[in-house]
Amino acid sequence: MAIEDRLNPVAVITGAASGIGAACARDLARKATGGLILVDLDEAALSATADGLEAAPERVSTMAFDVADPVRWGQAHDFIADQYGRLDWAVINAGIAHASPITDTSLEDWRRVMSVNLDGAFLTLRSVMPLMRANAQGGAIVVLSSASALKAEPGIGAYGASKAGLLQLMRVAAKEGAPDQIRVNAIAPGGVETPMWETMPFFQDMVRDKGSTRAAFDEMAKHGTPLARYSGADDIARLTAMLLMDSAPITGATLVVDGGYTL
Ligand code: NAD
Repeated sequence: MAIEDRLNPVAVITGAASGIGAACARDLARKATGGLILVDLDEAALSATADGLEAAPERVSTMAFDVADPVRWGQAHDFIADQYGRLDWAVINAGIAHASPITDTSLEDWRRVMSVNLDGAFLTLRSVMPLMRANAQGGAIVVLSSASALKAEPGIGAYGASKAGLLQLMRVAAKEGAPDQIRVNAIAPGGVETPMWETMPFFQDMVRDKGSTRAAFDEMAKHGTPLARYSGADDIARLTAMLLMDSAPITGATLVVDGGYTL
């Protein structure tokens, strides 16, 4: 790919302690030579991700907070401005899964999903876009949506609605950011083999039935995914880096990475 020319770019990643976010941290550690700011709710896992980085830039910061907390985003904005003096790339990745039919979903669960997946993304954009605007070269943002935003399936009303809302938020951000050379794009993965699935009771049952996590992922990928395979977190991290760094004028786009699931 033709790579944008940037001197010592600085990147922030939310949900960096696990799965796709941790894979992005490992990948961007080699590219964000100006520094890496890793955000996650899980402080211990976040430190483990930061400690495990190979070829990390000189400056890596970990910030343990809830992405739905506006006060902490205000502090994060000031910290990045003071300590790094610029921001080039943001990966808006923190998210939670939830599965239940609409009629069985409590308002509390609905709001919890919206709070992390949608409020969290809004607050991240509101915090990082001014930092990128102050950067003569602008910046690039990738949000992690989902194939659930594009294809209706029973049992994922709250999750699917949050991820569909995220796509429209991404498009509006792309238009608002364009005059300042801020590109905003989304990745909509189908299944990705990450610990997120372990929070879902039906997946826990399937692991028990099939005898291993590997067998459960293979079984799920076989049904409804034409390529019969899920993505790895590293696949999504590589494509995230491409959307952040490629010099082509891509903005407001959604890259679907789902093995053909939504076809
Ligand atoms: P994961 O559970 O492995 O990691 C998510 C991370 O986000 C965790 O470290 C968690 O602590 C953090 N997090 C959760 N709530 C938070 C909050 N309120 N504040 C800060 N951090 C918080 O999940 P993953 O599979 O790597 O998912 C990453 C993103 O990709 C999510 O937005 C998810 O919806 C999306 N996605 C995942 C899949 C998949 O199959 N795994 C498919 C499509 C989209």
